[in-house]
Amino acid sequence: MIKVPLLDLKAQFAQIRAEVMPAIDQVCAGQNFILGEQVRALESEIAAYCGVAQGIGVSSGTDALLLALMALGIGANDEVITSPFTFFATAGSVARMGARPIFCDIDADTFNVSPSAVQAFVDRQCRVQDGKLINRHTGGRIRALMPVHLYGQSADMDPLMALARHHNLRIIEDAAQAIGTEYRDGMRVGSIGDIGCFSFFPSKNLGAFGDAGLCTTNDADLAETLRVMRVHGGKPKYFHALIGGNFRIDELQAAVLRVKLRYLDGWTQGRRRNAAHYDAAFAAANLGANLVTPYSVPGGRHIFNQYVVRARDRDGLRAHLAEQGIGTEIYYPVPLHLQKCFEYLGYKTGDFPEAERAAGETLALPVYPELEPSQLAYVVSSVVSFYA
Ligand SMILES: *Cc1c(COP(=O)(O)O)cnc(C)c1O
Repeated sequence: MIKVPLLDLKAQFAQIRAEVMPAIDQVCAGQNFILGEQVRALESEIAAYCGVAQGIGVSSGTDALLLALMALGIGANDEVITSPFTFFATAGSVARMGARPIFCDIDADTFNVSPSAVQAFVDRQCRVQDGKLINRHTGGRIRALMPVHLYGQSADMDPLMALARHHNLRIIEDAAQAIGTEYRDGMRVGSIGDIGCFSFFPSKNLGAFGDAGLCTTNDADLAETLRVMRVHGGKPKYFHALIGGNFRIDELQAAVLRVKLRYLDGWTQGRRRNAAHYDAAFAAANLGANLVTPYSVPGGRHIFNQYVVRARDRDGLRAHLAEQGIGTEIYYPVPLHLQKCFEYLGYKTGDFPEAERAAGETLALPVYPELEPSQLAYVVSSVVSFYA
């Protein structure tokens, strides 16, 4: 039987082993593990890659989000509008700052937060008072929008940016799944809002050998605040005008990521090629309403961190594929407004029908660049046989 894991990082390591091991060795030889030349080089290389002025390497994607919120001074009595259909860290980081996550429903095609749902929330649930946008229900102040570029496709940023400008809101882009993703006209995510947050968790398109992340910004003052808060707010060292934390990325991870960055565009091309292969093969199989392939917004660049379909009898399909030796995953089975820990926010089933439908219907198929043509064909035939 052919085995097709959801992701095969060993295949990737085999390609880069000869380059990455000496890079690690070099860091070990220098014994300088914290915020050194590898981190500085990585920061400027990623910033250039994303078309943004500054990069600030941090300890994880989650910490990038947390640090971004801290740098913008978002905390108690503040509220942040985001998507209910995302990884937990997006809203978890807001709640950890003592702020309130506000969810707005997603677009059915892209799975990203719907700008019209955000606009409707602002129009119907908020009032403007002394130039501030206030949630009428809670009395809290809306401070920021946190769109997520889910699965590697950009959220629809223009209307969100316009809304943010109109109400003096900040935008934190959760670009954890989206390095190299383009919104339109070659504009890369992480360069659009006030701060972009990237994750180098091993399963992301650019993955470290452990945890790491990065913040991007075009604002020199914000960049400075992020850098200072990354080291407990000490500037100079041991003198603290700000309270920060330990959000450092380390030299070993930076050295690994710099090697991998050189391969990233090739890997992204491979993912896009595999996605196009699936699109064509599933269309040719006439699966009708049984399977809806991912929608790519014209003019953008989807990097396919995940290839996510909507499937009729999703759980049945998943079990069938598992029997065939094919790895899949559900990103994400429970929308955030229905998570137990967020009960206190007062949401209920039915509040965000598209997010709830997506949680029940979506399935990620293997799309990693090293997939062999025989493996792709096997995934397709296994899906087709389930509906036959
Ligand atoms: C992976 C991910 C994060 C968190 O990144 P870590 O590096 O795992 O902390 C945040 N948001 C989204 C959408 C993610 O996919």
